[in-house]
Amino acid sequence: MRALVWDGTDLHVDSTIEVRPPGPGEVAVDITMAGLCHSDLSPMEGRIPQPTPVVLGHEAVGTVTAAGPGAGMPAGQRVVLTVLRSCGECRHCRDGRPTVCPASGRPVAAPFSRDGEVVHQFVKLGAFAERIVVSREQVIAMPAEVPDPVAAMLGCATVTAFGAVEDRARLRAGESVLVTGAGGIGLNTVLAARAAGAERIVVVDRNPAKERIARTCGATDFLVPDDPSGIAPAVRELVPGGVDAAFECVGHTGLLGAAITSLAWGGRAVVLGLPPTGAALDLVVRDLFHDKSLLGCRMGSVDPHRKLPDLAGRVLRGELDLTPLVSAVVPLEGAARLVDDLRDGRIDRGFLRFGSTS
Ligand SMILES: [Zn+2]
Ligand SMILES: [Zn+2]
Repeated sequence: MRALVWDGTDLHVDSTIEVRPPGPGEVAVDITMAGLCHSDLSPMEGRIPQPTPVVLGHEAVGTVTAAGPGAGMPAGQRVVLTVLRSCGECRHCRDGRPTVCPASGRPVAAPFSRDGEVVHQFVKLGAFAERIVVSREQVIAMPAEVPDPVAAMLGCATVTAFGAVEDRARLRAGESVLVTGAGGIGLNTVLAARAAGAERIVVVDRNPAKERIARTCGATDFLVPDDPSGIAPAVRELVPGGVDAAFECVGHTGLLGAAITSLAWGGRAVVLGLPPTGAALDLVVRDLFHDKSLLGCRMGSVDPHRKLPDLAGRVLRGELDLTPLVSAVVPLEGAARLVDDLRDGRIDRGFLRFGSTS
């Protein structure tokens, strides 16, 4: 079958990838569409360690085609994937907190191979493939009426952003917000802040072309800083006293420092972007006085089996419109161009289409 493989120096479509059948508690999923997220670029840019060759991709929708013993999922079921390979049984999973399940950090045997050699599975998924095998815990049923790109996005950018705003920061109506980075997660965060009734939503991005889409999503102010040190003073000019919640969506420690410095008393700074391995923050601890919080946030800190159906329901009721973020849908062969467009800030969310239509 075909898959998009990063071999350490080159990104290419490989049609010789093999995928094993699902084992106990696993399912095979034929991918319909997969979104390209900034995290997929991280292994290529050396920001996170990743053995190669590897099938990238982790934000996708597809159809279950086979289930291993005990998986309890019918073939033909449309599903969205999640990177959380939680056990479903520990106290955290039973409490609805699979993002802190210890099992979700354990390595798993990749289902992919090429000429008998292992091909790795990026973040326990590897969704840029015609077929993947994942744990039953990694698939969530999705109504047919949710469009493919929107369904795919729900599984990573949208669930992460809405979880961060609603469940981690517990944003309340009338509060003020800072979002650093107007990429897929940042823009979803703006949508979530607007949905929560935020009064002021300040968005920071170094690309001035992002202002239009940021305002479409609900930004009330847009800043293009020369340097992270200028962000907090500019934010405090717009929102005297500082913001109630700040969401750092880039994975940049300078921006995280600016986010913390921009907080009002009682403010919450949420780390959404994945910083490079080993990145350290020079934190003035005194800045956290007055009940301020610095919150890590993995995949929105939510149970995707609860949050995704909730978000899908909002999409179907017309309460949540993600279509402005869908910039491009291309066949697998268009992946290299999509990567360039994402890197250069020309698209918000791009998607790869699989199957007979590609
Ligand atoms: Zn992602
Ligand atoms: Zn668990």
